Formats: sequence, structure tokens, C-alpha cells
Amino acid sequence: MSHPPAFHYRCARCGRTYPGDRLRYTCPHDQGNLDIVLDYAALRARLSPDTFPGAGAEPSQWRYLPLLPIADPGGQGTPLRRVGWTPLYAPPRLRAALGLPHLVLKDESPNPTASFKDRASALVVAHARQTHAQVLITASTGNAGAALAGMAAAVGARAVILAPRRAPEAKIAQLLIYGARVVLVDGTYDDAFDLSVRAAAELGWYCRNTGYNPFTAEGKKTAGLEIWEQCLRDDPAPQRWHIFVPVGDGNIISGVYKGLWDLQQLGWLPQLPRLHGVQAAGSAAIAQAWAAGHDTIRPVQARTLADSIAVDLPRDGYRALRAVRATGGRYWVVSDDDILAALAMLGRAGIFVEPAAAAAFAGVRQAREQGYLTADDPVLVLLTGSGLKDIAAARQAVTPPPVVAPGDLDHLRSLLTATQGGTT
Ligand SMILES: *Cc1c(COP(=O)(O)O)cnc(C)c1O
Ligand SMILES: [Zn+2]
Repeated sequence: MSHPPAFHYRCARCGRTYPGDRLRYTCPHDQGNLDIVLDYAALRARLSPDTFPGAGAEPSQWRYLPLLPIADPGGQGTPLRRVGWTPLYAPPRLRAALGLPHLVLKDESPNPTASFKDRASALVVAHARQTHAQVLITASTGNAGAALAGMAAAVGARAVILAPRRAPEAKIAQLLIYGARVVLVDGTYDDAFDLSVRAAAELGWYCRNTGYNPFTAEGKKTAGLEIWEQCLRDDPAPQRWHIFVPVGDGNIISGVYKGLWDLQQLGWLPQLPRLHGVQAAGSAAIAQAWAAGHDTIRPVQARTLADSIAVDLPRDGYRALRAVRATGGRYWVVSDDDILAALAMLGRAGIFVEPAAAAAFAGVRQAREQGYLTADDPVLVLLTGSGLKDIAAARQAVTPPPVVAPGDLDHLRSLLTATQGGTT
């Protein structure tokens, strides 16, 4: 079979299909997000779940190249080649504390730019090069931009990033270090999004925007494929699993669902696990639509310290609802205090995440406290980004350390023998 596999686009909203002859963004009819539908019959004839991807497959998301709608991404010897195939943790003390003996955490911070977004950006950069695009542009709250900037730098492509002016310092520094052209928009992420779409159209640039470019979900689906390979494939009852995902625009949860859906089309995953979306209380447009049973998502005025999931108008909300409804999961809403508490709890287990990732863990805590999750349930939490991305938030989750004068052993002794925090 030829590679890349044949595909066409299908609008998630109206079902209209479009040929996969070139890059298309949203549905011209209703602006719905486009799914990339592969030729599953041809793939089924060629691949087998027992031997795929095979013992010699590379330890990255490119182990799934036969299921991705691009040719070989190139980038040998660069970070682009090291995206994905992230580790799973089974932390005994967190399991005990939550009463969830089958809890696992999938840590996305080992990705080259330290977030989940590398999965999408690596694939998009590879696709853009294959279409001979000269410049890639994206709007970003920080991580998508850092990922695009880093992956573009790895292979010598040009990236332009529009980020909100108030994005966390570390993320802006990352964009600049990777040599991208960075412009800060004096407004929200949503403002940056709209401006970047107009700039891309005007200048003929390749637009990576989340929930706009259909290839981002194809990169993100590799997490779903990994969860299958790491957890579901050898489980006789994969539908028992609960997978918790932090949700802003809704493209990660849509992408994870797409990976599982592809496997279902191949006949490799008869029953899907439940997908759960977790939103911050101050940015819960999708959760609100889910609770009301609506398909239309009303924008909110996003206010949360979890900047990666602070979104007024989710750009992939429709598919994010579909992912949860189709798998029998739920949406959960957590406060910023819950997020900080979850961040500190993970930290004390040796896992340092940014607030958006902590939100997913806070969702699990809430679901356990409400008795929705029980000790029998296998639960996976997608920890989407490193804590070093947002140290200001981390400092809010802990007590500041005391200061002693040089040589003041008495003071030091009294500080260290007094009972204080950090003992759990
Ligand atoms: C982007 C991002 C999310 C949310 O993904 P969406 O596709 O916007 O729902 C969650 N966590 C981190 C760390 C992110 O960068
Ligand atoms: Zn449509």
C-alpha cells in the first residue's frame, strides 16, 4: 500500500465530505471542524493489531506513521523525531491516597518542548513541509506556539506566533529562544486566534491553529494510539477504563477520541473507554453545554489561572462534546483552588505539572470523592504539560520558604524542628 494512506475530510457537524487532495481548514458550508477519514479497508488488509507497530518501532509518535495522513516526517537526529511515546506512572502513594489502586498517569512533559502540543506541531510542521509551505503561523496561549516554534526550528522552517500579551513568561521566553517571529496581541487568546486566521489568509501562510487545521487532531490522536498500546490492547475489557483529559478548545480530547475511533474502524478496539473532559470553573463553556444537553456552545469570559485551558470560545467544542457523549464519559468542572491543591499533591509524588494538567487530576479527585469512580476502576490521567511552564502558578500552590541570616544555626534549627508543611 502506498504511503501516506488515502484519506478524505468529513465535516463533524454536517457530514459533508471533501477530497483529501490539499490542505483544507473548516467546512465551507457551516465552519464545522473537519475529521480526516482514512481508508480503513486498505489499512485493515495490510496491518494487524497483534504485530502493529512492532517490537522495533521507534520510541516516538512516529511508530504510528502508517495511520497518519502524511509521508515520512524527516527530521532525523532532531527533537521532531522524539515527540510522543511518553511514559506511564503508577504512583503507589497517589493510588493509596485516592483509593484508586488502578490509577495511571501519562506524563507529557518529556516531549521536546515540555507539553502535549508537540504531538500536533510535529505532525503539522512535517505536513507543511510536504506541501512546500514557506511560513507557518499560529495563535497560541503559549504551548501550541512553543511547540510550533520548537518543531519548526528543529527542521529549519519559519514560524510566526501570535500570543496573548499576558501569557506566562516562561512560554514567551520559549517562543523567542526557538527563534520564531513572535507578536504579542494586546488581548485574549481568542483575539490572537481571529487575527492569525486573517493574517494566514491574507499572506498565504500555512495556519496551524487548534480547532481549525484538521491535522492537529491527527497528531494528537497518537496519544489515543499510545493509550491503546500501553493500556487497552491487552485488557479484555477496555471499556472499563476512564480517561481524564483537561479541556480548553477541546482539540486534545477530540484528538484522543479520533485515535480510538480509528482503532475502532480498523476493528482493533471493539469497545471504547470512557473519555472525561475537565474544565476550569472560570472557563467551562463546553462543560456547560454538556450539562445542559446542548450542541451549541455559548462563549464565556474565561477567568482561570490555568492559562492553557482559558478559552472564551472553544474552537473544537462540538467534537469535544461528541467525544464524551460517544464514549459515555462526563464533563467535570474544577475550581482554581482545586487545581492548585492537585498541583501540590502531584508535586509531592515527584510529578511537576502546569495548572491545566493539574486540572485533569483535580477532576479525578472530584469524581472519586463523589463516588463516581470506585476502587475497581482503571483510570488514566493525561498530564499535558510541565510545571516549569508556569512557575508563578506553582508558587501559589505552596508556602514561601523562610529565610535565615548566614551563620544563624539556632534559627535554622528552630525552623527545621518546628512542625510545618510538606510532611504528607
Ligand atoms: C492546550 C492545552 C490543553 C487543552 O487542550 P485543548 O485542545 O485546548 O482542549 C491542556 N493542557 C495543556 C498543557 C495544554 O497546552
Ligand atoms: Zn459542515
